[in-house]
Amino acid sequence: MILTPTAIGHHIGGRPVAGQSGRQQDVFNPATGAITGRVALADAAEVQAAVAAARAAFPAWAELPPLRRARILFRFLELLNQHRDELAAMITAEHGKVFTDAQGEVTRGIEIVEFACGIPQLLKGDYTEQVSTGIDNWTMRQPLGVVAGITPFNFPVMVPMWMFPVALACGNTFVLKPSPIDPSPSLRIAELLQQAGLPDGVFNVVQGDKAAVDALLDHPDVRAVSFVGSTPIANTIYETGARHGKRVQALGGAKNHMVVMPDADLDQAVDALIGAAFGSAGERCMAISVGVLVGDVADRIMPRLVERTRALKVLDGMNRQAEMGPIVTDAARQRITGYIEAGVREGAQLLVDGRGFDGRSAGPGCDHGFWLGGTLFDHVTPEMSIYRDEIFGPVLSCVRVPDFATAVRLINEHAYGNGTACFTRDGHVAREFARRVQVGMVGINVPIPVPMAWHGFGGWKKSLFGDMHAYGEEGVRFYTAQKSVMQRWPESTPKGAEFVMPTSQ
Ligand code: NAD
Repeated sequence: MILTPTAIGHHIGGRPVAGQSGRQQDVFNPATGAITGRVALADAAEVQAAVAAARAAFPAWAELPPLRRARILFRFLELLNQHRDELAAMITAEHGKVFTDAQGEVTRGIEIVEFACGIPQLLKGDYTEQVSTGIDNWTMRQPLGVVAGITPFNFPVMVPMWMFPVALACGNTFVLKPSPIDPSPSLRIAELLQQAGLPDGVFNVVQGDKAAVDALLDHPDVRAVSFVGSTPIANTIYETGARHGKRVQALGGAKNHMVVMPDADLDQAVDALIGAAFGSAGERCMAISVGVLVGDVADRIMPRLVERTRALKVLDGMNRQAEMGPIVTDAARQRITGYIEAGVREGAQLLVDGRGFDGRSAGPGCDHGFWLGGTLFDHVTPEMSIYRDEIFGPVLSCVRVPDFATAVRLINEHAYGNGTACFTRDGHVAREFARRVQVGMVGINVPIPVPMAWHGFGGWKKSLFGDMHAYGEEGVRFYTAQKSVMQRWPESTPKGAEFVMPTSQ
């Protein structure tokens, strides 16, 4: 049966809006390769309409007491819990990741909403009584206005939820520009927000590509931009946004290393490497893509990694047995395959080759999907492109090093610094690793250390452009401007004109 692709449009000013630009992009089910939708690609006029709706909604939303904004988020939270599986199935249908992983994605997004529900406490501000005789000083944080979020394909629910719950709770209005690869969950989120009682125009979705992003960056009413995606685009967004006088946080790509020390629990380390390298087909910015095997670990662990990589259950994401689903697009599959070829050319030892994977074994109708098996390299060295570049696929590159100091130096010399992990039983090694490593998020015997909602998320080096991490208290700071107020009442201390710098004396 051939289904007619669904038309996927925008959500502006509280209602669905069909694309007007005439440009659109196919949306696929990566498991089958079928075109399931056609997403509109906004032009500048459509972006302007979304920003205008957000600007019009801003004064009333910002004026609403934080507790009343939080009550709407509490209702949204209830709806998210009710619709968790529906959202997860939408993710699997357009992204391909396995359903249980998609459920986990929605849950991690929900946790940010739970955090944002505490906004009255988070916006409390500071107060100092009597900074000078009869004078008090306090700080408050006020919303910026219209803020925008530009998000990647790999977490179509969670990454937008790193942004808008906090931004809205702070009193801003929001324009989301999701990835055109998996655009549908964003529209369902807009509906759920509306059902929760969010006023029209407070949250808007414009679908699109570079043209929509450029229009957001150009727009004088967009006060801040949160971006998550690949490093070259993050860098451009940061520079362009800053040039236009906007606040920007731009989270980029990654190449996350996991160090396995000779004293590590190898059962745990094998499970961690396999899950963190191949979960979500390696299409996670916190995926482990490099195993750093210290001393004799490589000889002990490699046969087990080979066995486990070969045994991966690569299946349609809706199959409850699946451990790994398809690659998101055919272009991504070709890019990853190109890196595997380069790894072989550059002299790495290819122990398991995922290129031969036959989609027919993934389930009925999967013969035209975008499939690839897990791939494992040994004897990878720092000059190789498979070591230097972010592959963003199910490829685990293992590097052999003699000692702990070399492992740390390797990580610190890499251009990316998103996440890293060290597996050891030695508390001193663990402590030194956490202190010395030049990476933003560190796991000790935890392979994917994605911080909880109240801690904030962000890498170092080429993994983040900007000063503040996503969500947590840094998120609240990003989406608010600090104002300091100093007060004195006329009857308190009549002093006459003062011509010297006021002090507390
Ligand atoms: P991407 O950079 O291709 O796209 C991200 C967003 O930018 C999308 O909305 C896309 O439409 C838009 N975009 C693409 N090209 C553009 C251009 N030339 N000008 C303006 N906008 C453009 O990234 P992706 O492939 O969707 O996502 C995967 C990447 O995201 C990986 O590099 C991954 O590491 C990264 N990522 C990082 C984090 C993090 O927290 N650091 C989290 C998730 C994903």
